Amino acid sequence: AVDKEKTSSVAKIKVVVRKRPLNKKELTKNEEDIIDTHSNSLTVHETKLKVDLTAYVEKHEFVFDAVLNEEVSNDEVYHETVEHIVPIIFQRVKATCFAYGQTGSGKTYTMKPLPLKASRDILRLMHHTYRNQGFQLFVSFFEIYGGKLYDLLSDRKKLFMREDGKQQVCIVGLQEYAVSDVETINELIEKGSATRSTGTTGANEESSRSHAILQLAIKRSVDGSGSKPPRGVGKLSFIDLAGSERGADTTDNDKQTRMEGAEINKSLLALKECIRALDNDQGHIPFRGSKLTEVLRDSFMGNSRTVMISCISPSSGSCEHTLNTLRYADRVK
Ligand code: ADP
Ligand code: MG
Repeated sequence: AVDKEKTSSVAKIKVVVRKRPLNKKELTKNEEDIIDTHSNSLTVHETKLKVDLTAYVEKHEFVFDAVLNEEVSNDEVYHETVEHIVPIIFQRVKATCFAYGQTGSGKTYTMKPLPLKASRDILRLMHHTYRNQGFQLFVSFFEIYGGKLYDLLSDRKKLFMREDGKQQVCIVGLQEYAVSDVETINELIEKGSATRSTGTTGANEESSRSHAILQLAIKRSVDGSGSKPPRGVGKLSFIDLAGSERGADTTDNDKQTRMEGAEINKSLLALKECIRALDNDQGHIPFRGSKLTEVLRDSFMGNSRTVMISCISPSSGSCEHTLNTLRYADRVK
């Protein structure tokens, strides 16, 4: 009963927006900051033209669980989004944190530090509160690119998904590293991130077309002897989603790009539908809509938590993409 109380005090779904500062490129183009932020709401000032070409400003207001402005540090982002979830992972909760937004909006900047900060807290709990109770931490890191899975911790080895009879998904061949110190975790995060961003062609561009999934799993040895494999307890997944604008690449001249765009579009739509279904406590969750949601199936079932971090650029040049991102976040909320 105590455990139930602990887990039920954490909201099932939390939607947070993070606005980054204007960058050099935007400043040299004289682009303006069009976003006003308040503690949990924001206003977008969209400049539009009338038929006679005179300009006017249309305001769009949005309310979320929290709005983090350009002065908020990565430590504060962790505090707002993931910190309160870490303790309930030991209570069999599966939680997922997504970064959504157009390419260049700050998804990777926001997401990359989170698993390390979470691991630090997880290890601290294992060493103190749960000392000598047989808990172990495991790290895996893979990506979904064009609907296919690749292991970011073993040279982009191709992976396959399998479903067992108990509706559990299993990624065959995925490397899972048992870790007991933050230095090792940091090395794995760096290694996987480097593998992702260089991809096959070496172009940085590639990472905007893939979803990167880093999972921290807590397992427990049932008997102290270690003769049985440890059993999964809780899981925390960090997902750096493909650039949301890529979902619109469905009319591109290049066939490959078109196919990837369609896959990204499908997965972001399916993700939205799954989170909405979770929120309404619907029995049926439409996992089958995409590879992304199928892979996350077990994280959507049972006692789960979802945090969506929507990343936005402040600049007038990104207004349309920003409004799309905020509308998506609004639908998830
Ligand atoms: P995405 O992963 O969404 O394509 P990035 O995370 O790579 O975007 O961010 C694009 C650029 O903006 C990077 O150079 C990053 O360092 C910078 N950046 C993003 N968010 C912030 C922020 N909150 N504060 C400072 N710089 C940021
Ligand atoms: Mg990125």
